[in-house]
This record gives sequence, structure tokens and C-alpha cells, in this order.
Amino acid sequence: MIDQSNLRQALSTVQDPESGRDLVSLGVLREITLDQELIRIELDVQSTDEAVRGTLRSGISAAVRKLAAEQGLRRIPEIEIEFLSATATPNPLPLVRSVIAVGAGKGGVGKSTVSVHLALALARMGRKVGILDGDIYGPSLPTMLGLDEIPPKIDGNTIIPFEKHGLKIVSIGRLVEPEKALVWRGPMAHGAFRQLALQSDWGELDHLIVDLPPGTGDVPLTLAQLLPLTGAVVVCTPQKVAQDDARRAIRMFQQLGVSILGVVENMAGFTAPDGSTIDLFGRGGAEDMAAGMSLPFLGRLPIHPELAARGDAGEPSFCHDLDGLGEALRTLGDAFDHRIRMAERGEDRPTLAIR
Ligand code: ADP
Repeated sequence: MIDQSNLRQALSTVQDPESGRDLVSLGVLREITLDQELIRIELDVQSTDEAVRGTLRSGISAAVRKLAAEQGLRRIPEIEIEFLSATATPNPLPLVRSVIAVGAGKGGVGKSTVSVHLALALARMGRKVGILDGDIYGPSLPTMLGLDEIPPKIDGNTIIPFEKHGLKIVSIGRLVEPEKALVWRGPMAHGAFRQLALQSDWGELDHLIVDLPPGTGDVPLTLAQLLPLTGAVVVCTPQKVAQDDARRAIRMFQQLGVSILGVVENMAGFTAPDGSTIDLFGRGGAEDMAAGMSLPFLGRLPIHPELAARGDAGEPSFCHDLDGLGEALRTLGDAFDHRIRMAERGEDRPTLAIR
């Protein structure tokens, strides 16, 4: 007889082709109902790729046939598989046109700096832009955007975003003591992030940029489940060791069904006051990685003392008007904007090149 327990065991031998993990440990089995005639499985798989779904269907059907044979059944029950991601859930932020995550393989590569400057670049193009400090373990936007002295505003259950530098800003760093956030575990992090994202009065926005915690933890998963994402940007420094971490972050987004808008190389070269350039961490590593993974490269930012100083002073906009640095920021912003537009038009999906 096939029951829930031996069926789940059988499904633990079926691999998801995208992540290489089995369906049970991946946690995508939602509801299984069965009798001797019919097995119905609800799968929470983000991918809408028919090839992926086909592989899953045939893997499940093979596992059930094998189980039926082991149980000595003469009749194999019919199998019905429903992919839950196909049933669209209503968008909880209908006034926000696009939500873009900024992630990194590890901390300290300049993810928050890049998030802030990408948001500023879009705001300078006249867009309505919000930025959510989702780095709940180490929020740095209050300092970088100069919010430390402004009292947070909460109206009942609604967080009123700060408005500064032409951005709407929400950061956990101004709502709880940072020391508390550091010890949060999965479910609390999930809950806190959910509240920040959904209980803030964002109003109408063209773009909401979400500065994620580094690495591949719970928050990106929460975000991908909560909001329809236009895509993700991954920040990386040029060194080889940084690329390995960035690759993991990229794969995580891809497994969550989030397309990669592009890779940004940060801390690429240092321009000394005499104009000479020193490639402290090498150069081009992130671009090579992007090319190797067939992903767009959005551009690079140099190590520039003003990026750090103005970040510490809460005056990042200043950098956009500096000679040299302003151009680098604009070029990066333009490439980002271009990719967002492509993604909004659905043109960012990989196409098969026939040569
Ligand atoms: P992350 O979000 O990845 O942890 P941050 O954006 O907080 O990294 O950057 C870490 C530190 O490095 C900050 O003090 C920031 O001002 C500085 N920094 C980041 N990128 C640059 C850069 N290109 N040039 C100079 N300083 C930078």
C-alpha cells in the first residue's frame, strides 16, 4: 500500500533539476493527498520552465511506479501534479512597479554602497525610488543616508518611510536596537523583514531597491516569496575568492526563480591623487565571472575615498557630482536602468542563439 510516509520517502529520491536537491529537503512538497486510485501532489516550484516541470513530472512518476512495484501493487495510481507558482498570488505592493534585490556573496564588498548609489542614480533620472534596508543583521543605511538623527515615524501599524536624498527609506536600524537584530534567527528575521516590506507606506513607486543581507540566508527566500521581483543585482569585488561567494549568491537567486539583472564590480582599482591607478584587488574578475555565467555586467566602481567618506557622513549624493566618480556612477546607473526596462518588458530571459 502506498501511504504518506513511503510516498514522501520515494519523493526524497526525486531531484529538482535546477538546484540538484531532492524535493523533500528542498521543502517544495506542499500538499499530498492520496488514495489507491489517485495521488495528488502540490509542488511549490518557482520555475515556470516547461523543461524543468517535465523533468519533475517524469521523476515523480518514475518514483511512484518504483514504489508501487516494491509494494506489489498491480495497479499504479494515477498521478496529478499541481505547480503552485502558476496560481498567481495577489501582489501585496500593487503601487510599486518593480522590486529589485541587491545581494552579495559575503559582507563588506560594498553591497549597501552600491544599493544606495543605484537608487540615487534612478532618483536622479526622475524616478520615484524607495530603498529598503533588508540587511537586518547589519543595517548600514541609517549611517549611509544620514538618518541617525531623524526620529522614526510610525502610524498605528504602518511605518512611514524617511524621505531624504529624493528617496523613500525604511531601515530596521532605526526601529530596533542594532544589537538585538544581530542575534535574530530565521523565523524572527523572516517576520521582521516581512513587516518592513509590507507594513511601510511606500505609496506609488517606480522602483523599490532591497538591500539584502550578504550570503544565502532566509531573507532572500522570504523576499522572493513575498513580492514579485523584477530581478536581482549581485555585487562582487574583483578577487577570485569573492567570485566564488558571488556565484553561490547568483545560483541562489536563480533557484528562487529570480532573474539576474547584472553583476556590479566594486572596488575595482584605486585612483591615487596623482592620477595613477593601482588595481589593489585586481580588475575584471567580476566581469569575467558574469561572462562565464552568461550574465550581464552592469559596470564597475573604483575604490574612491569619497565613496567611503560620504557614506560615513550620510551624504552619498555628493559623489554623483564629482569629476570621474560621477561619470562612473552615471554609467552604472544607465546600465542598471536599461536592464530594468528589459526585465519589465520580459526581454531578460535567456534566448537560444543559433549560429
Ligand atoms: P556591504 O554592504 O557589502 O557590507 P558596505 O557598502 O557597507 O558593504 O561597504 C563597506 C565599507 O566599504 C563602507 O565603509 C563603505 O563606505 C566602503 N566602500 C564600499 N565601496 C567602496 C568603494 N568603491 N570605495 C571606497 N569605499 C567603499
